[in-house]
Amino acid sequence: MENNLHKALRTIAPMNEILDHGEVIALAQIHGRTLLSETLTEVINDYREQLHNDHLFRDTMSHLNRQEVSMYLIEKLQFKLKEIHSTGLKKVVNATGIVLHTNLGRAPLPSEAIDEIRKVNEGYSNLEFDLETGSRGSRHVHIESLLTHLTGAESAMVVNNNAAAVFISLNTLAKEKEVIISRGQQVEIGGSFRIPDIIASSGCTMMEVGTTNKTKYRDYAQAISENTALLLKVHTSNYKICGFTEEVPLQDLVQLGREKNVLVMEDLGSGSLYDLRKIGLTYEPTVQEVIASGVDLVTFSGDKLLGGPQVGVIAGKKELIEKIKNNPFARVVRCDKSTIAALTAILNIYLKPEKVVEEIPVLKMLALKEDELEEKAQDLKEQINALLGDGCQMEVVDVYDEAGGGSLPDLQLKGKAISLTVEGLSANQLQELLRKESTPIICRIVKDKVLLNVRTISKEEFPLITQALMNIMR
Ligand SMILES: *Cc1c(COP(=O)(O)O)cnc(C)c1O
Repeated sequence: MENNLHKALRTIAPMNEILDHGEVIALAQIHGRTLLSETLTEVINDYREQLHNDHLFRDTMSHLNRQEVSMYLIEKLQFKLKEIHSTGLKKVVNATGIVLHTNLGRAPLPSEAIDEIRKVNEGYSNLEFDLETGSRGSRHVHIESLLTHLTGAESAMVVNNNAAAVFISLNTLAKEKEVIISRGQQVEIGGSFRIPDIIASSGCTMMEVGTTNKTKYRDYAQAISENTALLLKVHTSNYKICGFTEEVPLQDLVQLGREKNVLVMEDLGSGSLYDLRKIGLTYEPTVQEVIASGVDLVTFSGDKLLGGPQVGVIAGKKELIEKIKNNPFARVVRCDKSTIAALTAILNIYLKPEKVVEEIPVLKMLALKEDELEEKAQDLKEQINALLGDGCQMEVVDVYDEAGGGSLPDLQLKGKAISLTVEGLSANQLQELLRKESTPIICRIVKDKVLLNVRTISKEEFPLITQALMNIMR
């Protein structure tokens, strides 16, 4: 036993010898010498430890010669380096048909936005510099006029995301006071964002009124006291209550707020500046309509139906926005220059309504018609076929796609997918292999078949899919 341990330990080549190995030199080119030798040290230490602790392993390894042990360690090294690089943010192909997939980064940006991000990052920018006066400026000015022009609001600002927008608005305007909200609008957005928690953490007291299915005008009216600061309407963007239901229209809440001298704010969730009925989708109130109803403030996300970068927009009365800008938390939740650059580009597209659907990827994907999707699916199928022949069975099938991102929950978008089977692989195995490719392909399984929904795949990504399938078949 002891003998085997010593024997195995002695057959480990010194670091330098392993580092001089042709394959390891190639790895150093890719990963850099520092990471390489650190990782190799770890690999050797792990190996020694395993020799000490695992006698079966030790007995097996004691039969190998020095060269064989080195090959074993190099294989472990390669594996470990791959593991290090397998974490980290990377491009994936979204073959789920869910357009605003929160886990996959929500809205892809148009090239105009990416160009702007590049421009302000390659060198310097006037982020907080007033070019008119040559003195310090504000990062808010770059988007404020675009936003007020597009929404009709007196004033507007942006913060890191819509959760932050709701938080800082309540914290500024209703701290230590009561916020009244309907029991039918206690939304959970996902993960850790629940409206009641946001209200509590912003320092406000939540006053629930009405019932889950019905909340009436008088429920709000009766709840208002001298402690009330704000009536909060939350757009139930990710669920629908159907049947015997009643909500108070925003106009009526605005009326009540004016009478009783309390503020009225709507968290619109996925705020859209574009009337989605024009592309055949269900009606969503636009930000313009909400502002026109006379509400004091509205908040919404930048990376949902707007199709832009992750931001939260706060639009409404100038005096209130000024107060929010002066809240110390404004610094905590502010956006960076890349985001401001991207949002500017997006808003500029909205200035030309006839370009919106064509140029904003989210709207373009949502607008795709069945025949366009059929063509796209056939095209992908042919490309796969050309390279792989009979290696996999494919069929173009009807599916339902989704808007996702907690938007348009009752919308079923008719879509097309390639249903894919590869000889000798179960659907789960194929799905996993596609996910583990160097550019992962993320897809769903329906009725035991892997589906590639083409709505969310761009034509430029087709070669990534054919390449992935080729790797898998090998
Ligand atoms: C999505 C959503 C939020 C959160 O917005 P983020 O931009 O993801 O922070 C808040 N409220 C509603 C109603 C939403 O739909």
